[in-house]
Amino acid sequence: MRSVRPSAPQLAGLEPYDPKYLPADTLLSANENPSDVEEELRREIMREIRRVPLNRYPDPLANDLRDLIAEANGLDRGQVLVGNGGDELLFNLALAWGGPGRTFLNLPPTFSVYAANARLTGTETVDVPRRPDFSIDEDAVLARVAEGDIDFMVVTSPNNPTGKLADGAFVARLLAATDALVMVDEAYFEFSRRTVRPLLAEHENLVVLRTFSKAFSLAGARLGYLLGSEDVIREFIKVRQPYSVDAVSQAIARTVYRNRAKFEPAIQAIIDERARLLDGLSRIPGVEAFPSDANYVLFRIANAGAVWQNLFERGVLVRDFSSAPLLEDCLRVTVGTAQENDAFLAALKDAALKAL
Ligand code: PMP
Repeated sequence: MRSVRPSAPQLAGLEPYDPKYLPADTLLSANENPSDVEEELRREIMREIRRVPLNRYPDPLANDLRDLIAEANGLDRGQVLVGNGGDELLFNLALAWGGPGRTFLNLPPTFSVYAANARLTGTETVDVPRRPDFSIDEDAVLARVAEGDIDFMVVTSPNNPTGKLADGAFVARLLAATDALVMVDEAYFEFSRRTVRPLLAEHENLVVLRTFSKAFSLAGARLGYLLGSEDVIREFIKVRQPYSVDAVSQAIARTVYRNRAKFEPAIQAIIDERARLLDGLSRIPGVEAFPSDANYVLFRIANAGAVWQNLFERGVLVRDFSSAPLLEDCLRVTVGTAQENDAFLAALKDAALKAL
């Protein structure tokens, strides 16, 4: 027998997620932190890792790490869950709240993984597109949830790739207006210094997603976490793979989280550089840059696909969204170091001219 029967029908035509990561001198495509973990902390991490028994399975729920995160957020252990990157927790969201006959409300343009997970799990996706300035169409969202058939939704704040926060008062109104599970994806919240976490005290249907990949420079280690009610977290625990967060990653995350104050200067540097990057972009003719509360800036430019190629040829990798729905002629640049941002701005001036 040489043939294999088709995979599950929902996979037909589905493109695997591709971060389009290519080698370049200046890597500004993946919203990573430009600063790696500093040397002294790395040594402490190494000491922690040396103590990890590699022959034993890890603590399935990473309870020591959960306790650290819970304490810092004024919550109990049962209100926190750690995952293999935010990505795993997003998949678990679709597994636990989605499925055939279930409905997900999406606010495009936003992180494409949400809709992909819905599709993988046979969940129907209903879109309420953002306005032309990428703000949430709040009345349309409230009207749509009032129909009563939405099982879960994600409000990304700040939104990726467009950059702006969701309004906290709107999120509170939304939570009160529906019994759908509302995930607020705060993967980039450290760069906005704003969170909806206080709303957890009043709203059982809120779950907050965070990550170690951005502010804590740990994209390589794969760690994310949820804050929510114990009942909601229990449902996530039902669908998770028991050992998804390995013992080495748990040791890294514990050390980094205990030392999180050390990341503050690098976070502030990114916030300062973001303002400089936006200012630099606004001075380039033909560029429309969108204000950002995150560690990246979305901008629109004619012939964006050609501009992306010209930038790449000049050693600068940014993310091309120009063929994504609702993001025509848009590129996204991650805020890097001052030197990287200067390299990007200089290359963009050239690249924009060449693409005319
Ligand atoms: N949410 C958003 C909005 C993101 O941009 C990302 C990273 N691309 C994630 C969640 C997941 O990040 P990670 O899996 O690295 O924790």
